[in-house]
Amino acid sequence: MRQPGSVKEVVEAGLCIGCGLCEAMAPERWKMAYTPQGRLRPSRIGAGSDAEILQACPGAVARPNSESAPLGDAVWGGYHRMQEAWASDPDTRFRAATGGVLTALAAHLLRSGQARFILHCAADPQAPMRSVWCLSGTPSQLLQRAGSRYGPSDTLAGLQAALDRDEPFAVIAKPCDAGALREVSKSDQRLARNLVGVLVMVCGGASDLGKSQAVLDEYKLSETDVALFRYRGHGNPGPTRIETHDGRAFQKTYGEMWADESGWRIQTRCKICPDALGEAADVAAADIWPDASPDGDDEGFNGVITRTAAGERLFRAACEAGSLTAGADITPRQFDTFQPHQVRKKHALAARLRGMDAAGSPVYRHEGLRLETLDTRDAQEEAGTLQRVRNGRFHEKLP
Ligand SMILES: Cc1cc2nc3c(=O)[nH]c(=O)nc-3n(C[C@H](O)[C@H](O)[C@H](O)COP(=O)(O)OP(=O)(O)OC[C@H]3O[C@@H](n4cnc5c(N)ncnc54)[C@H](O)[C@@H]3O)c2cc1C
Ligand code: SF4
Ligand code: SF4
Repeated sequence: MRQPGSVKEVVEAGLCIGCGLCEAMAPERWKMAYTPQGRLRPSRIGAGSDAEILQACPGAVARPNSESAPLGDAVWGGYHRMQEAWASDPDTRFRAATGGVLTALAAHLLRSGQARFILHCAADPQAPMRSVWCLSGTPSQLLQRAGSRYGPSDTLAGLQAALDRDEPFAVIAKPCDAGALREVSKSDQRLARNLVGVLVMVCGGASDLGKSQAVLDEYKLSETDVALFRYRGHGNPGPTRIETHDGRAFQKTYGEMWADESGWRIQTRCKICPDALGEAADVAAADIWPDASPDGDDEGFNGVITRTAAGERLFRAACEAGSLTAGADITPRQFDTFQPHQVRKKHALAARLRGMDAAGSPVYRHEGLRLETLDTRDAQEEAGTLQRVRNGRFHEKLP
């Protein structure tokens, strides 16, 4: 299969997820910007070769971390542990997206002095419906910024600022971002030396901003009215809550927010995502609702997958320090029942990529993610993707 030869080609083929890495690696050439469709994409501001970026761009390459783990599963990949867990601090558990595991683990890295700061993302203070990258240096900053953000996020645009500090740091990001970080750390000594943890959420896909805009439209609000846009948290999953500068508040349950799948506006790269389960990370955290559907709110329980020796050490140390509480073990087949959409996607991917290739589209390189092993040779998937590419549904323009 043909691989993309430039950032422009990554974007045009629908392979870009807007991670922001190209801005961090070449700020003189690329700047992240919103497209009219509400996607974050690199906008060209200078000329030059993209060769170095394409070594790590998630639209060009996807690989797991390079360790061999003691346990493994064809769908879920290599792991040390699959277990229920939650933040021991009730406030963290309440305010976070699920059970606060990502915040608790990152806070442990800060408190223990292993990391000086965390690169992650948060609501844009100027436009809270949107997300911006941020560096959190204290557990309380991390906690203020906890919770899942369902629109575009370009956390890796902050990578250069993180590297410039030349201090140990961890990253909380999406699985595709984790893959990019691992690839960069193969050639960037400063990153290899300073990156002490890569923590991700298991990811069903990132909506474009139109999904959030549709919520504002429903309430007849404009973006400038919005003082707070919290996608979930304050309970598990907690409501989507909007507050306005003039003191009004609106909220929807998670079920109401996600009832109509046709309005999810999930980006193309997510539909062909080879590693939404965080195999490049040290630790991945997920929801564990039966059939991926919450039955009301609860106190917050994450399913945690430790992927590397460092991730496993972090999990144990956070439990010993009292930051994390561990629950029951989880088996890969139980995880299947919590994430049936992920299992379906993993099995369909090889066919989708063949469909792209048959339509003449470039495709990312992938290794170690077992797409061939899981291939169900679904002719309908392949033909459907081919048709979508031919109809221009994958095509995007540089902003
Ligand atoms: C777009 C998206 C899709 C998801 N799909 C699934 C799914 O299919 N199945 C599943 O089990 N779980 C999914 N989740 C994960 C789930 O919502 C929780 O994030 C996860 O369980 C971790 O919970 P937590 O309480 O440990 O996180 P918290 O302790 O609240 O920490 C969340 C951290 O993630 C960072 N973050 C939030 N949103 C983003 C974002 N968009 N990009 C980068 N970083 C971000 C925040 O900065 C924060 O540091 C998804 C999350 C997102 C953002
Ligand atoms: S996926 Fe990331 S690195 Fe690749 S083109 Fe898009 S923003 Fe740039
Ligand atoms: S589904 Fe994959 S490509 Fe999309 S945001 Fe999640 S990890 Fe990234």
